[in-house]
Amino acid sequence: MRNDVLSSVWQDFLTIVRQEVGSRVVETWLKAVTLSQWESTQKTMYVQAPNVFVKEWIQTRYTDLFKVHLSRLLHIDEIKIVFLGPAEEREILRPALMPLARKELVRTKVNIVSSVLPKQPSRLNPDYTFDTFVVGSSNSLAYAAALAITQEEGHRYNPLFIYGGSGLGKTHLLHAIGNAYLSKNDKAVVMYQPTDRFVNEFISAIRFNKIHIFQQKYRKLDLLLIDDIQFISNKEQTQEAFFHIFNALYDKKKQIVFSSDLFPRYINGLEERLRSRLEGGLVVDIYKPPFETKIAILKKKALIHNEVLSDDIAEYIAREVVSNVRELEGSLVRILAFASLTRQPLSLELARKVLQQSQQGSKREEKVGFERITDCVCKFYSYKLSDLRSESRVKDIAWVRQVAMYLMKKMTDKSLREIGNYLGRKDHSTVLHAFDRVQITMQANAELRSAVEKLEEEILR
Ligand code: ADP
Ligand code: MG
Repeated sequence: MRNDVLSSVWQDFLTIVRQEVGSRVVETWLKAVTLSQWESTQKTMYVQAPNVFVKEWIQTRYTDLFKVHLSRLLHIDEIKIVFLGPAEEREILRPALMPLARKELVRTKVNIVSSVLPKQPSRLNPDYTFDTFVVGSSNSLAYAAALAITQEEGHRYNPLFIYGGSGLGKTHLLHAIGNAYLSKNDKAVVMYQPTDRFVNEFISAIRFNKIHIFQQKYRKLDLLLIDDIQFISNKEQTQEAFFHIFNALYDKKKQIVFSSDLFPRYINGLEERLRSRLEGGLVVDIYKPPFETKIAILKKKALIHNEVLSDDIAEYIAREVVSNVRELEGSLVRILAFASLTRQPLSLELARKVLQQSQQGSKREEKVGFERITDCVCKFYSYKLSDLRSESRVKDIAWVRQVAMYLMKKMTDKSLREIGNYLGRKDHSTVLHAFDRVQITMQANAELRSAVEKLEEEILR
């Protein structure tokens, strides 16, 4: 790596570190050392210190800082850092690197250019494929749309927008699309990017005046997979930058896929023009898997761990874990790990023991019943259950009743009809209406949202 490249990386590093740990550390310690050599084959950065004392001081306290930020700045994972004292420079660096010097310089220069500039790993997880994804009624539409993107020409579903609650398989599907796309065309340029990383990259591109490099990197993609786009909310400048990237790719008929925990319209702080782009293609949802799908997922995941799960254990876990697939998988892994660590055979008894030990949030949800919810709601808003059950249309009561319905639907597995009956409503569509209304209001009004969230915590306590 040329000296001027090294020194520019070093300046960028100091700027970031100054913000992170303060300028005193930078002035006192870090400015005493220099980046002396980059060894690209070993992914090693040699840092030269003026004396042993400084070397050890920095080495013990700041090695991680060096690793994290230099990896980021050089776009290279898992950098090694070697700190050198004055004597070591002569002994290690010179003899080893001198004969290579010219060749090395050329090679590392190319490396660094190609890693800072466009070439980026697709960042796909090879385990998340269509084959390992279990399809059921809760995700079949999302699955079909995702598959279609990798099979059909003409980009009929662009952009594809997949939304649904946490832990229901959105990230898995995004990776599956990327993996399938690449296996059909290994020359395709594919990128999986979580939105928070996109935002951070954008901020650092602005900070280091590298916006053109940033945009160039995205504009040459064939497939862009953006995970959790809701995190772009209220970040106006990032939205603006993203809007242009979106348009550039869209105009070139390049496929874009988004995931989000909410329907675009309900994502707060989203510019109208971006929102309409997000909704402009195909929008599909994923919801909680029904019992049968949960069992199929458990059995498939067990096979991946080389275990065969019997029906009774699978059914037991599927009944116990009601929240989402991530929890389901977590519970299974805990059970398998426990069996293997204690060298016991898998049995229903053992599964029970493990799940009862780990009181997960999902289990707490299950214990919540209508009474607990209405008790807390009434206490919170100072009403009586009879008020909720009454026909009163006083605005305040109507709202509190809707909140109760919302929480009953969200926190229990009961049907709309059962919820309606409990609150004396004959028409169960009232419950659905209440649920939507509260959800939309919570999106728009942070104050109401925090009240309802607080209430939910209270109920779980
Ligand atoms: P999300 O992004 O929606 O929060 P993830 O895609 O991270 O959820 O899924 C959480 C975990 O559950 C992952 O390990 C994923 O493989 C698994 N998972 C979710 N849905 C399915 C499915 N239908 N079949 C197989 N595994 C699934
Ligand atoms: Mg995810």
